[in-house]
This record gives sequence, structure tokens and C-alpha cells, in this order.
Amino acid sequence: MVQQKGSPSRDRGDDAGRPVGRIMRRPRRLFLGVLLLAVLIVASAVVSHRFGAASTTSYATSPASGQGATPTAVPSGGPGTFVTARATGEKVGQGPNPLRYMVQIEKGIDISAEQTAKEIAGILADPRGWTANGYSAFQLVSSGPYDLKVRIATPGTTDTLCWEGIHEDTEGEYDCEVLGGLVVNLKRWIDGSPTFDGPIHDYRALIINHEMGHFLGHQHQTCPGPGRPAPVMMQQIKGLHGCVANAWPYDRGGHYLSGPPAA
Ligand SMILES: [Zn+2]
Repeated sequence: MVQQKGSPSRDRGDDAGRPVGRIMRRPRRLFLGVLLLAVLIVASAVVSHRFGAASTTSYATSPASGQGATPTAVPSGGPGTFVTARATGEKVGQGPNPLRYMVQIEKGIDISAEQTAKEIAGILADPRGWTANGYSAFQLVSSGPYDLKVRIATPGTTDTLCWEGIHEDTEGEYDCEVLGGLVVNLKRWIDGSPTFDGPIHDYRALIINHEMGHFLGHQHQTCPGPGRPAPVMMQQIKGLHGCVANAWPYDRGGHYLSGPPAA
């Protein structure tokens, strides 16, 4: 069993804050995509070396995840190569130019890429999600031009990608946002967080909304006051500080659930 860690005092990345305003032109993104691919190939070699005899730990999957009660294995590492979900969706949100995203699952992970893509698409389409800002829009694609990838990776590969991408040590525990997309630690995706007392789907919404928030240029925030909803940009896994766990950037009335900027 992999030991759950509590809330560390030192700042580290379930996600490192990213600079604001990283909106780039598409050709540059494509170029960076190629660059990322090169990094992935190298990372894959490293991971294969490090995790040649990867151990696996089983976690009980909540029935709320839609994948039944069959335990899903969480290998400590994987090949660093990914399968793209063959799933597409309509544009959601009012902005004219949707961020086109692909969902990829690291090879060897025993979850359905298509189901996962649909779950992520549902999170991004939710009226409490980032589209409530009135200008963000998203579209799930499986081929052709894209703006970012949402990758679900083993803890070992997550660490490799996050270190390569933003020099954050995710310590086998956390997620991150890198240039070109989001890296979601399979352990968090399957097991949730000790500070989040709710259905696993809601915690997945927090992961996607938080990391996508970084991609959109949002920085970390803190708890606005006891009993208030924790901002989605708060690092809730490191402690709620009196706030109530919350997975959504907006409430049902369309109000932004924010907090003071983190120091
Ligand atoms: Zn973050």
C-alpha cells in the first residue's frame, strides 16, 4: 500500500503556479508539441529504466466513478507513452475559439480512455466550470490540430513529466500543468485526496478545474474565510484552512468562488 501523505508545509507542486498570459499562437504550440514529443521519448527511456520492475498497488474504485467496484491498479511507473482517447465532443462555452484538447492515458493503465475523456468533457462543460466566465470555451478532439493534452499518467511518469516541464517535484503524489497541457497523477484520479470528502468524480473535477485554471493563467489562491467554499485555485490537498472542499470555480448562480492570492 502506498502511504498517503498529509499536508506538507513546504510549497510543492500538485501544480506549480504558472505565469499569467501564456496564450500563444497555434504554430508555436505545434512546435512545442514536437519539442514535447522529443522530451517524452527521452523521458520514456528514463522511466523504463527507473521502473523496469514496477510494483503495483490496488485501490478500491468508488462506484460513483462509473467503473464499478473493481479495484483499479495504480502502477508506480509506466512506459511514458500514451494512448489517445477516440472521443470527440461539441464546443462548450461561449468563446468563439475553443481550446481544443486531447485526452491521453499512459499505456498499461487499466482505465478506459474513452470513458475518461467523456468524464473530463463533462467536467469542462459543467455550468459551474470555467465556461461560466463567459469567454472560455473547450472542445474535445481526438486528432488534428490541438491546443493542449490532458494526460493521465502513473505517479512515476507524472514526476518525470512535471520535472521535465516545470521543474516541480510532484513526489509521486501530485498533478501539474506544463506547457502543452495537464498531467494528472493516476493515484489522485483513482484514490482522490485525504482532504476531499466527496465522490471521486467531484475530486476529479477539482483536479481538472485546478490545472485547467493554471492553463488559463490563474494563480494559487487561499481560503477567503471559515466555512466558505475553498477556491478551486487553492491547493486544497495541502489543507483546507477552515474552508469547505469545493471542486468548481463558479457556483450555480454564476458567481466566481475566489479567495485572496496565495503568498
Ligand atoms: Zn496549482
